[in-house]
Amino acid sequence: MTTAQETTAQDDRTFVVVGASLAGAKAAETLREEGFTGRVVLVGEEPEPPYERPPLSKGYLLGSDERDTAFVHDRAWYDEQGIELRTGVRAESIDPAAHTVTLAGGERLGYDKLLLTTGSVVRRLEVPGADLEGVHYLRRVEHSDALRGALVEGARVVVVGGGWIGLEVAAAARTHGAAVTLAELDTLPLRRVLGDEVARVFADLHAEHGVDLRLGTGVREIVGTDGRVASVTLEDGSSVPADAVVIGVGITPAVELARAAGLAVDDGVLVDAALRTSDPDIHAAGDVANAENPLLGRRIRVEHWQNALDGGPAAARAMLGGDVVYDPVPYFFTDQYDLGMEYSGHVEPGGYERVVFRGDVASREFIAFWLADGRVLAGMNVNVWDVADDIGRIVRSGARVDPARLADPGVPLAEL
Ligand SMILES: Cc1cc2nc3c(=O)[nH]c(=O)nc-3n(C[C@H](O)[C@H](O)[C@H](O)COP(=O)(O)OP(=O)(O)OC[C@H]3O[C@@H](n4cnc5c(N)ncnc54)[C@H](O)[C@@H]3O)c2cc1C
Repeated sequence: MTTAQETTAQDDRTFVVVGASLAGAKAAETLREEGFTGRVVLVGEEPEPPYERPPLSKGYLLGSDERDTAFVHDRAWYDEQGIELRTGVRAESIDPAAHTVTLAGGERLGYDKLLLTTGSVVRRLEVPGADLEGVHYLRRVEHSDALRGALVEGARVVVVGGGWIGLEVAAAARTHGAAVTLAELDTLPLRRVLGDEVARVFADLHAEHGVDLRLGTGVREIVGTDGRVASVTLEDGSSVPADAVVIGVGITPAVELARAAGLAVDDGVLVDAALRTSDPDIHAAGDVANAENPLLGRRIRVEHWQNALDGGPAAARAMLGGDVVYDPVPYFFTDQYDLGMEYSGHVEPGGYERVVFRGDVASREFIAFWLADGRVLAGMNVNVWDVADDIGRIVRSGARVDPARLADPGVPLAEL
């Protein structure tokens, strides 16, 4: 690992981070913590300082969290740390040979090391009427602001897509007293990620909270009146009246900059286990990085908060010359109504043999384990707390476990 002493001697270097995001902010923070005294520039196209996105579909959308609580740090912190935070400006191109980044407006920044934390952009729904007023997407704070105005008592809201964002928005909308219809192409929401057994828990949760689930059907058209959304026609021919439509059909990694610079890109920017791209002076972390994970023995692109939180610092250490092997057990969480859960591990769609439950599924207080070949690939704790680390350790160990002991609440997880 690079020490503070080593880096002091090199403080004429410039490290540029493109993407003033959670991963980007945490990387800049780590550079300073590790004693880097060179120039650090953090460039972001959004006007706000880096912020966390999970509240945008939860506490902030519900009106219980203030906007400021989402910021990773306030602006003054960046000044105190000598981090040049350049918000509201897009990085337009990278010249890897010249080691420069060109910003909108033409300014050129030289770099010794560059980190890409450009994250993701929402996938657009390509149907007639998708650009009508009243159609929402959710990625940025201003999207959440607009949505907050739409999720009001009595409003008729159609959510398109039963993924994490769609379900969290549906929960927020119901909590605000809106009537919610949710259309999902698959037979259950979240089926690809969780499989039938656990996806059903989420379908039941929403049905019990009054969400009208329209499963196995997509959207044919969004119909408007005077430029505003009025109804949604589903693939099954039914028409659902709507005051607002929220589209949550996934995201794609923001790779344009990397691709135009000639970096290797394939469903994200390809990086090794030290989060280094095909150019040794350019790293990538967070949603945009498709990283070799030695623990999983394969590449994975993770679109979750923890990976931004930990990946940024890992990349920063690698940029400083540290011997980094980033091999996390993937982790994410969600909150919907009174259900809170954490998921640790990774299962390919259909890539498990059985699910073992510990606890009471009906009352939504349980742990689910996905197994293949006698090993736990992933575990999800639902309304059961302080167990995610133990679950992560079980997944990391790769050891064969006795399903009966997994299912037995009397056996401490740490023993497994
Ligand atoms: C509404 C919502 C709720 C979520 N809830 C959860 C949750 O409950 N649990 C969970 O685990 N995860 C959740 N996530 C996912 C999590 O927020 C993301 O994984 C995380 O934000 C990824 O961080 P990042 O640092 O990779 O990039 P991002 O947060 O995507 O930020 C990238 C930034 O880079 C900027 N940028 C891109 N290109 C350029 C450029 N060329 N020049 C300058 N700037 C550029 C973008 O404008 C953006 O500000 C949620 C996401 C959303 C949108």
